Amino acid sequence: MRDATKIIRSTLSRTVPGEPLHAGPVFAAPYHTPGDPSDTPYTYARSHNPTWTSLERSIAQMESGQFPSGESYRAHALVFASGMAACAAVFGAVLRPGDVVVLPSNAYYTARILLQEYFAQMGVVLRMAPTANNAQAQLLEGARLLWLESPSNPGMEICDIALLSEAAHRAGVLVAVDNTTPTPLGQLPLALGADFSVASDTKAMTGHSDLLIGHVATRDLELHAKVDQWRTLTGGVLGPMEAWLALRSIATLPLRLERACQNAQRIAEFLATRKEVVSVMYPGLPTHPGHDIAARQMRFFGPVLSFILRDKSAAETFLEKATLLTEATSFGGISTTAERRARWGGDAIGEGFIRLSAGCEAIEDLIEDMAQALDAI
Ligand SMILES: *Cc1c(COP(=O)(O)O)cnc(C)c1O
Repeated sequence: MRDATKIIRSTLSRTVPGEPLHAGPVFAAPYHTPGDPSDTPYTYARSHNPTWTSLERSIAQMESGQFPSGESYRAHALVFASGMAACAAVFGAVLRPGDVVVLPSNAYYTARILLQEYFAQMGVVLRMAPTANNAQAQLLEGARLLWLESPSNPGMEICDIALLSEAAHRAGVLVAVDNTTPTPLGQLPLALGADFSVASDTKAMTGHSDLLIGHVATRDLELHAKVDQWRTLTGGVLGPMEAWLALRSIATLPLRLERACQNAQRIAEFLATRKEVVSVMYPGLPTHPGHDIAARQMRFFGPVLSFILRDKSAAETFLEKATLLTEATSFGGISTTAERRARWGGDAIGEGFIRLSAGCEAIEDLIEDMAQALDAI
């Protein structure tokens, strides 16, 4: 079955005459649990919920696939109240004092800070190198976990996930990929050899800029059980309404992602022709240093691109004049958004650096709007 069919079918409820195609959210704290609780599939909603189960089945199908050898594998997924809760669950389930974690120096800012300001204080040792050029391969000796993110955010650097996973496994190191930007439809970390595929589904996966949600997928039932236990013990779990909305949103992922990625490609190509733009970072451009690796490991190059204008004032003028670019952080929504990243601090980028997330609007309108905004600089 092709991806679009598989994903849309995976969001439907079981066929029961007279029941809706898409069952509503199940609101519960305890469930009826007579006698021996091991006979009851659902007992208490911090541990499990039928609406999570439907969402987790759908995500697990998306994360399942084939290795390059052609051998199939099955994934298992766990959903969380946010992308950060999913990242924290992998850290918490795997890392113990004295363990070494290798991560990109340009990994998602909040994940990096969580490791630096909490896990490192509890005795976890961090080794960092940039995403580009597979620099982390040199740091794997004696490590416990390799954390990857490709494309990196917001610099859009690419690393070779299959190559690094193989090197990590040779050294006995577990591999987790933060796959937020491409979504599992755009890139399948588990098929490339990773042990964990982690994502903020707040972004393109649900795509309507109205949900916070995350997931962790694995092929290994033992790792799955550890992450599940972490979720139950820490308890910051997803609400059933959010789980239900996510399932509804995922059904349109194939449509949304395809359009958004086409738009991102056209915007990147357009920006590259403009003299006001110092450089454009998008893995779909053949001039991008990671293009060949990205073309091999990604099915879509993603909705996000970054570009550099001369300075802060040029970037601010551009964003003010562009009426179709909603100024907001985050990315992956159906409407195009953009922001000057340096206003947040924390990432090693210049004052004129803009991150743009392509939405699903008519591309002609977006390009006309950006052209007049660039003219105004
Ligand atoms: C947004 C994001 C996260 C965190 O997700 P939340 O849903 O905001 O908690 C983690 N990793 C990446 C790459 C992100 O973009």
